[in-house]
Amino acid sequence: MRVAIIGAGVVGLATAHALLDRGHEVVLIEPGAKQGRPTDGNAGWIAHTDIMPLASPKAWRNLPRWLMDPLGPLTIRPGYLPHLAPWLARFLLASSPSRIKSSIGAIRSINAESLPAWKSLLSSLALNGHLRENGILSVWRHQGDFNRSQDIIERQRSFGIEAEALSPAALAELEPALRNVEAAVLYPDACHVSDPAVLAADLLRLALERGAVPVAAHASRIELQNRDVRVHTDGGGPAVTADQVVVSAGIWSRALAAQLGDRIPLDTERGYNATYAKGTFGIGRPIMFEGEGFVTTPLNTGDRVGGAVEFAGLEAAPNHSRTDAMVQRLTRFLPHLQSQPAAKRWMGFRPSIPDSLPVIGPAGRDRRVIYAFGHGHYGLTQAAITAQMVASMLEGRSGPVDGSPFSARRF
Ligand SMILES: Cc1cc2nc3c(=O)[nH]c(=O)nc-3n(C[C@H](O)[C@H](O)[C@H](O)COP(=O)(O)OP(=O)(O)OC[C@H]3O[C@@H](n4cnc5c(N)ncnc54)[C@H](O)[C@@H]3O)c2cc1C
Repeated sequence: MRVAIIGAGVVGLATAHALLDRGHEVVLIEPGAKQGRPTDGNAGWIAHTDIMPLASPKAWRNLPRWLMDPLGPLTIRPGYLPHLAPWLARFLLASSPSRIKSSIGAIRSINAESLPAWKSLLSSLALNGHLRENGILSVWRHQGDFNRSQDIIERQRSFGIEAEALSPAALAELEPALRNVEAAVLYPDACHVSDPAVLAADLLRLALERGAVPVAAHASRIELQNRDVRVHTDGGGPAVTADQVVVSAGIWSRALAAQLGDRIPLDTERGYNATYAKGTFGIGRPIMFEGEGFVTTPLNTGDRVGGAVEFAGLEAAPNHSRTDAMVQRLTRFLPHLQSQPAAKRWMGFRPSIPDSLPVIGPAGRDRRVIYAFGHGHYGLTQAAITAQMVASMLEGRSGPVDGSPFSARRF
């Protein structure tokens, strides 16, 4: 088959390789990485041990405190509220105990296959060197908050996820630079990548070497014909003709799906980060600062602190006071950061669905168009397994994960 992939972020790139593996012809339609695409600036976690949707008891517990602080971990810009209302209504619906339970089941089903899928993709391309298997730490500033998180940790263990509570002495030995932490849990099987932007660049280079055909254009319209599917592009070039099309354009997928009659509740949770010189933090592995809304990662290219959720749409300028506030909160845990020079700062657009599940499946109107977007906080984690699911769907076979919870028809 000849398959046109719209969007060469990490999801589109992993999909290109899954299709090339199966002998299909691939056309990659990508105008050149859009400013703020999260593929490049994310925290680099393969967070396959995570099981909770954003609409979780943990988020609701912290929400009043977060919303009170204009530079806190979660904000809604007042002017954006009317646009966000339908998304928020669905977020509320996704917060019922039964919906949370089904979201957890679906997240677990896809995350459980995420690391094996990445390992297989990386080793087939001789890119294993990108994977760092040092585990991931969750830390709590207050013992009471840790105690209140026991239900989530127990639920992770019930899925067979290893979660090792560390004594203060064990934590001090593992991460001596950390201060003001009363409780910690190590997830020894979680891992991260060397640098997400470098990984994406390698995936693109190898896809082109393997024969994927690049089309440097912005897909503007998908036209369904009897014999083929046409992707029209801005700039007046000829339409790309294919047997099937994959839409993997992150947050920018919403408009393409809408043209096909699918009104997907996709909005962006804008995230922020700051990257310091490598080794500045003095930490050996990624750390989740529970209840603070940020994480740190020792990337090959620098030490990154990132997080925050800001609902403000695609057009508003970044507000890097949020980044500064995040760095300020981090200095409670890494006091030596106070004296470090300012870092590179970045803002990017997580493509998010209210139930925290991506959309992976056919368009309502035509099975020849497959959606693969909306991965929210887990797009790097889930890219390789999404690619395998998409490849199976295109070939009309059952895939490695049950696709029904991720269908576009669930809305
Ligand atoms: C601060 C932050 C930290 C994060 N940390 C993690 C993490 O540690 N682990 C994790 O798993 N996830 C993380 N994420 C989420 C993850 O980065 C995203 O879910 C993921 O990158 C989404 O990838 P994508 O390929 O779907 O979309 P994108 O990265 O948005 O790529 C979409 C591509 O489509 C192209 N495009 C757009 N419109 C068109 C068009 N019309 N025609 C053709 N091409 C088009 C764009 O140029 C872009 O290249 C984080 C996100 C943020 C913001």
